[in-house]
Amino acid sequence: MTNKEGLLFGTAGIPDSSRERTSQAGIERIHELELGCMEVEFVKGVNMTPPTARGVGNAAAKRAIRLSAHAPYFINLNAKELEKMAASQERIIQTARVTALFGGDSVVFHPAFYLKDEPSKVYATVKKNLEQIVAKLRAEGNRVCIRPEVMGRVSQFGTLEEVLQLSAEVDGVAPTLDFAHWHARTGKSNSYNEFIAMLKKVENKLGRKALDNMHIHLSGISYGPKGENKHVDLDESDFKYEELLRALKDYNVAGALICESPNLEKDALLLQQTYRKL
Ligand SMILES: [Zn+2]
Repeated sequence: MTNKEGLLFGTAGIPDSSRERTSQAGIERIHELELGCMEVEFVKGVNMTPPTARGVGNAAAKRAIRLSAHAPYFINLNAKELEKMAASQERIIQTARVTALFGGDSVVFHPAFYLKDEPSKVYATVKKNLEQIVAKLRAEGNRVCIRPEVMGRVSQFGTLEEVLQLSAEVDGVAPTLDFAHWHARTGKSNSYNEFIAMLKKVENKLGRKALDNMHIHLSGISYGPKGENKHVDLDESDFKYEELLRALKDYNVAGALICESPNLEKDALLLQQTYRKL
């Protein structure tokens, strides 16, 4: 993805208006809607066979739809039991393998829970595990980018700073900037100037190239003192998406913006149309 391709908009999973519930039909629907990308959701498990993955890759390549993947929710790179840790690593690796097969560029995942540990200790554990994961993938010739997500609840590892620091320190790791999560977690970060400050932080930490190939999640969101409550449609939320889109445009951010609102393509199209009109 180079900067001239700009910012693509798409859905977290198969659009609701897809003719059937398959990734291939979903890609066709993304194309019909004139969106640019789709995230393949493996949140309940990696359940795609290699032949299906190749078919999905062909469908996406034919229509120039950019693909990424979301790894299973059952991942905790700070798990206490060795078995759970190994299973967490394995779920990311399996997602990366199938993503490479369908020509996707990124694997998004929820990195860990603090479980009452010191954040600095959790950081070291997550970092060590990510280094092992990337090393295993590179040994297989897999170049898919591993993207921990900025998380919405205070119990979840994944502040903006933690995600950027991992991206700076571990080769092959880059951020998923979830602006709705960060707003829910902080109760702030919901204005043009704050969005610009976040983008500056990314640039200072990771360089301009990170903004030329950014992976973004966005939805409406409801939240309380502990952060995220749940994703809602943008028009039911206080999230100032127009100000975010303006900041992304002014800062010339390129890459993929995945809409995770419950109404999926409706908000993805709203975001794309709003962005293009700016
Ligand atoms: Zn996620």
